[in-house]
Amino acid sequence: MDEKRDILSMTLPELRDALTALGEPKFRASQVYRWLHQKKAQRFSQMLDIPSKLRDRLDAEFCIKSLFIARRLASSVDDTVKYLYRLPDGQHVETVLMHYHNGWRLCISTQVGCKMGCAFCASTIAGFVRNLEPSEMLLQIMETERDAGEEISGLVLMGIGEPMDNFENVIRFLALLSDPDGRGMSLRHVTISTCGIVPRIRELADRKTGLTLAVSLHNPTNAGRSAVMPVNRRYPLEELMEACRYYFDKTGRRVTYEYAVMEGENDGESDAKALAKLLHGQGAHVNLIPVNKVKERSYHATRRAAQQFMQRLERLGVHATVRRTLGSDIQAACGQLRHEADTQDTESR
Ligand code: SAH
Repeated sequence: MDEKRDILSMTLPELRDALTALGEPKFRASQVYRWLHQKKAQRFSQMLDIPSKLRDRLDAEFCIKSLFIARRLASSVDDTVKYLYRLPDGQHVETVLMHYHNGWRLCISTQVGCKMGCAFCASTIAGFVRNLEPSEMLLQIMETERDAGEEISGLVLMGIGEPMDNFENVIRFLALLSDPDGRGMSLRHVTISTCGIVPRIRELADRKTGLTLAVSLHNPTNAGRSAVMPVNRRYPLEELMEACRYYFDKTGRRVTYEYAVMEGENDGESDAKALAKLLHGQGAHVNLIPVNKVKERSYHATRRAAQQFMQRLERLGVHATVRRTLGSDIQAACGQLRHEADTQDTESR
């Protein structure tokens, strides 16, 4: 492991402190920061307006991390591209580039693996390995932009991992991302998705970041939800809904709900009624996704089943849409590519 400081995870004030400690004038930090976050330099030797002696010094003290494209799957039915990135320590995460309206949206991972244990999700099968560093989240954007030759205008934290379980690094990543001295992306274009870690939802609300919050619901009763999402035993629906209302009250941003339709499990009339009751009065929007088949799991649903459930909800006055399926031909479900890469690694060893 590299012992040098991970410079892409450092804020501008931190960089300023570090460089003044090396005896450098204050403006140097802004220069270096711009090279990193705006000009996307991958090596200190590219920073041509920095004296070469300082460049060598920087190289000795800091590292600019990078990701390696281990696999790249381009859809042949639409513009979706799925990347399997190898991290500096040899672990893998997935990133998905999607064409949306007039721009490009990226779905990034926040952890290697996941602790949450949702029964239908591939990301959790091999367990949790480690949190991603802020730099490793930023680099998923930078490397993808470099590879695709496109600029990313929207971001969703919906890849591998639970962002609220890596809260500190995610908050730091968002600060770096939106810093006007850096990339300056508006957090209005960022959605963070959570399985429902209540205290973190409240903390995020208090920070008034402008983020959109998406909550993975998947079942409208405590018994049903606890059976597929262990997190529900810790933070049951009553507490979750209260936290979502708090988020809306504090930020004025409507929470969206994710609901993976699983045939025969959560798509009946009684489920629709319970969901309508749960969301009553919130003007909430429900994103329905026919559950992606994960080969270790038996859950399944057709698009038609999701549409039928949508109609049930609409009849009960709940606004719902079936999410557009992008990259259906490369749609190894969330976490599946990484899982496959790990299995292959093990098999070939
Ligand atoms: N941990 C966060 C974000 C990552 S998962 C969360 O739980 O929200 C992104 C979304 O994909 C979540 O809504 C998750 O429940 C959903 N998901 C996971 N596996 C799925 C599958 N097999 N089919 C459909 N959606 C799935």
